Amino acid sequence: MPFIKKGIEDWQVAFEAAGFKNAIIAKDPPTKEEDPEWSPEDVRYSVVRYLASPIPNANGPHVSDPRSGEILESDINWYHNVMTLLRNWFFVQTAAINPDAQGVAFDDEVMGRLIRFVSSHEVGHTLGLPHNMGSSVAYPVDSLRSASFTKKYGTAPSIMDYARFNYIAQPGDDGVALMPDIGVYDKYAIQWGYKPILDKTAEEEKTILNEWILEHAGDPLYRFGHQQLGDIVDPSSQTEDLGDDAVKASTYGIANLKRIIPKLVEWTKEDGKTMTI
Ligand SMILES: [Zn+2]
Repeated sequence: MPFIKKGIEDWQVAFEAAGFKNAIIAKDPPTKEEDPEWSPEDVRYSVVRYLASPIPNANGPHVSDPRSGEILESDINWYHNVMTLLRNWFFVQTAAINPDAQGVAFDDEVMGRLIRFVSSHEVGHTLGLPHNMGSSVAYPVDSLRSASFTKKYGTAPSIMDYARFNYIAQPGDDGVALMPDIGVYDKYAIQWGYKPILDKTAEEEKTILNEWILEHAGDPLYRFGHQQLGDIVDPSSQTEDLGDDAVKASTYGIANLKRIIPKLVEWTKEDGKTMTI
């Protein structure tokens, strides 16, 4: 719960950049005594709903006014087994360099950080942001091995990419960040969608909004890449990849997998259980 809340409130930095303070706050639902009428089905409340389901996923749909595009409410569906997904990804992608991932069950703080990451991503959807699969290509592969670079910029300019965990970092790349935060692109997208443009008609607003896009034309940090379903025609807008050179990134990733394989039994065995990886 505290980690899901943190993931929600992480978006405050983006709203602050757009001129709003305390724009997004996570609260517990009221008790029956506090508000007997309260219901998660009520259109006035946007809620994160925990679903006791084996589905390993989460999603963040929203309802918008078709006339204005205004988002009226949203609900995040959080299936229990999203944690299984996170564990498997974090293990496969980072265990070679990350002692926190070298086991079957992660510490609460470690799993909590992963939950916060997914919570932030889903909240991005509820705020109106689609996937930006063309984001992670903005960073040079070797920058993802740098602690100072990744601490400042995360592993992609947008948390809305499928840029999961840093499989590029190699042993010795100490202190490197392993996942994206709310990034440069996210702040820019929230500003575009939410920053008030006062005393202008809708038509005049369009011109200003287009200018905001053109200000960053050609800058990969601000690039948007569609999610490609079916045939992939743009190799720079893929899911699950990191960095600006897929071959170089994958070479590092495979080197890490070769480090993990000999350790699989040591890191994943449980007394009395068969192997599940
Ligand atoms: Zn998503």
